[in-house]
Amino acid sequence: MKAVVIAIDGPAASGKGTLARRVSDRLGFAHLDTGALYRAVGLLTARRGGDPADPAAAEAAARALDAQQLAELMKDPELRGDWAAQAASQVGAVPGVRAALMDFQRGFAARPPGGGAGAVLDGRDIGTVVCPDAPAKLFVTAAVDVRARRRFNELLARGVPAIYDAVLADMKERDARDSQRAVAPLRPAVDAFLLDTSSLDADAAFEAALSFIRSKTGLPA
Ligand code: C5P
Repeated sequence: MKAVVIAIDGPAASGKGTLARRVSDRLGFAHLDTGALYRAVGLLTARRGGDPADPAAAEAAARALDAQQLAELMKDPELRGDWAAQAASQVGAVPGVRAALMDFQRGFAARPPGGGAGAVLDGRDIGTVVCPDAPAKLFVTAAVDVRARRRFNELLARGVPAIYDAVLADMKERDARDSQRAVAPLRPAVDAFLLDTSSLDADAAFEAALSFIRSKTGLPA
């Protein structure tokens, strides 16, 4: 049977990652955080002595990334840091990097690991480019100052010293790069359900997402 694919896109700190995890847990689907793939390529580029801003170095790293390296990088605490986020955004603007990661993402969606009936993929271009035929697409967003405040509080909670204005500036820079790049820019698919979490808590966002998914797929969510 064809796997059911749920595509969840949106900018940084919109709440899409938390939502994708909760939806996949509830439905018993596999979950792929595609941002982690771009972060892994950013880290690997630097560890191979390259600069993530150099398209040739980034593409070479993406093509060299194998499943074992990916599994190791996924466990690396640096993967979640702001340096990796900016590096991910730089390598993500390179068409050859996006092409190199495409098969992995589409393979995950078509044959979810663990033999589940479906997969939830979250990222920036899942509904528009990676899985344009997904039956349920969501675009999760929130005002940039709300997202920056969330990220700032998250950093403080982890004991990482942070300055709100710097977090806000970083987020605006990443939003601009992700939305303005020529290949697979961040934008909602025409048939995506827009979920603005600026004034919604995680539970309310989850309930709204589930009822949309149920209406599109007929799944007993
Ligand atoms: O989602 P996360 O914040 O971990 O993503 C890090 C960066 O990776 C994003 O800012 C974006 O540039 C890039 N990315 C992408 N396409 C995806 C997922 C992430 O370009 N599907």
